[in-house]
Amino acid sequence: MRTIRASVFLLAAACTLPAFAQEKVLNLYSARHYQTDEALYSSFTRQTGIKINRIEGKEDELLERIKNEGANSPADVFITVDAARLAQADALGLFAPVQSKLLDERIPAHLRSTDWFAFSTRARVILYNKAAVNPDDVRSYEDLAHPKLKGKVCVRSGAHPYNLSLGSALIHHLGEQKTEEWAKGLVANFARAPKGGDTDQIKAVAAGECGVAISNSYYIARLLRSDKPADKQAMEKVGVVWPNQGSFGTHINVSGGGMLKTAPHKESAVKFLEYLASDEAQAYFANGNNEWPAVKSVAVKNPALDALGSFKADTLNVGTLSKNTALAQRVFDRAGWR
Ligand code: FE
Repeated sequence: MRTIRASVFLLAAACTLPAFAQEKVLNLYSARHYQTDEALYSSFTRQTGIKINRIEGKEDELLERIKNEGANSPADVFITVDAARLAQADALGLFAPVQSKLLDERIPAHLRSTDWFAFSTRARVILYNKAAVNPDDVRSYEDLAHPKLKGKVCVRSGAHPYNLSLGSALIHHLGEQKTEEWAKGLVANFARAPKGGDTDQIKAVAAGECGVAISNSYYIARLLRSDKPADKQAMEKVGVVWPNQGSFGTHINVSGGGMLKTAPHKESAVKFLEYLASDEAQAYFANGNNEWPAVKSVAVKNPALDALGSFKADTLNVGTLSKNTALAQRVFDRAGWR
């Protein structure tokens, strides 16, 4: 009996010691860099004793880096924005499925795929120049293709992940053909060739160069919270519509992440993902970029988001959503949305 117990002890020691030494580090590749994220990471280290080594970069660069590092990549967790980019990482086979009761309970089913989790949401909304456009003419994404809006629509490139994800959702709800017709109508309504980011479209609407535009909600919230008089003045000229409240709901997208298949510290990786779903981390993660927490029970105090009011969001699963992005690109190409 004594020998068995001793050997069990030795076996346990042999298993836990190197594992324990390994568990105290997490290599995080993150395309998010907000000041509030500092507090997020230091709190995780305080709670778990796991030190976070952070590699920050642009979304596509980090993805490229993980791909190039291959099996030797030190990356444990990859965090990025937009379902299209998460899907790209997933399609490359970079993520490993995570079994976590906690994550399954905390993150709503439509905000996780088999291999990655969304930790915050943002909406893709319509905004309009109050003096130039009647909001009743732009209640849905479909409305933006109506000939009534000829010469009024501004939007960033059709190749950008934000628009590809929107296109992907439209393909799901309307079908490929209707989405192509929609994209053609949209292009025919352009006030100018696509240029700049979402913030540029908002400012162009305020300046009257465009009557209506599409933007992610956090860019609007950021301008609403700005101290600059020019931003305040600009936002007074702009109205915001939650699109498709009478049908499938406003298209939402996500910030999220997952554990990498080659993660050297898998236990730390799961702990970190679970931490991101905690009340405290959810508030930091969402508010840092004026987004909404993925965990429904977590309330945020964000005056700009509160001012925008509540809305019905599209509950299309983010994993399903991302599956149509390549098709969306072909559809937009055919429609001439460069
Ligand atoms: Fe963005």
